[in-house]
Amino acid sequence: SILHKKITQLAAIDELTGILNRRFGLRRLKEEFSRSARHGLPISTVMIDIDHFKKFNDTFGHDAGDAVLKMVADKLSDTLRAEDMVCRYGGDEFVISLSGAGMNDSAIFTERIRRTIETNYVNWGEQQLSVTISCGIATYPVIRSSVCEELITAADKALYLSKEFGRNQVAINDGMKILRFSEMKSKNK
Ligand code: GH3
Ligand code: MG
Repeated sequence: SILHKKITQLAAIDELTGILNRRFGLRRLKEEFSRSARHGLPISTVMIDIDHFKKFNDTFGHDAGDAVLKMVADKLSDTLRAEDMVCRYGGDEFVISLSGAGMNDSAIFTERIRRTIETNYVNWGEQQLSVTISCGIATYPVIRSSVCEELITAADKALYLSKEFGRNQVAINDGMKILRFSEMKSKNK
C-alpha cells in the first residue's frame, strides 16, 4: 500500500539531511557490492568527514551546523548518478558508493566533490558559512575485500590519513599504502 511504502521510506531516511540513514545506506552498499563482485565490476567506497565541525558548531551554533550538514548532503546527492549511493553514516560522516568506478575514476570524482563543498556556502544572517571535507577512498577489487565491511574499513583508513595529511583533501587506499590525490600518477589519464 501507499502507507506501507511511505513508512518504509521514512525508516530509511535521515531526518535532518533527507538522505539514507546508516542502516539503510549499508544495506544498499551491501547490495551494490554483491552486484559488482558478481559481474566482475569495480566499486568504490568513499568515507567523508567534515573538518573541525565541533569548532564550527562552537563558533556559529548548532543550528548553523545543521544547515551546513543539510547543504553538504544536498551537494553530495546532486553529484551522484542513480546507481550510486550516499548515506549519513554518523554525525558529520557520510558514505558514498560508486558502482563501476575504479580507483582513478573515483579519485577524480571525489576530488571534484571536495572542491564543490569547499566552494559552496550557507547564507546565515549576514554571514556566508562554509566547511571543508576530508575523504578516504577504497576500491574493490584493488582492495581484495570479500565483504563490503572490509571496503569501509579500508576507506576509513584512508580518511584517517587524509585528516593526518592536513584535512580538506582526498586520500586513496591502494591496498599497500595510502596515497594523496596529488600523488596519484595516472589521475589525468
Ligand atoms: P575532525 O576534523 O577531526 O573531523 O574534527 P571534528 O570536530 O569534525 O570531529 P569530531 O568527530 O570530534 O566532531 C564531530 C562533530 O560533529 C561533533 C558534533 O558537535 C558535530 N555533530 C554531529 N552531529 C551533528 C548534528 O546533527 N548537527 C550539528 N550541528 N552538529 C553535529
Ligand atoms: Mg569531523
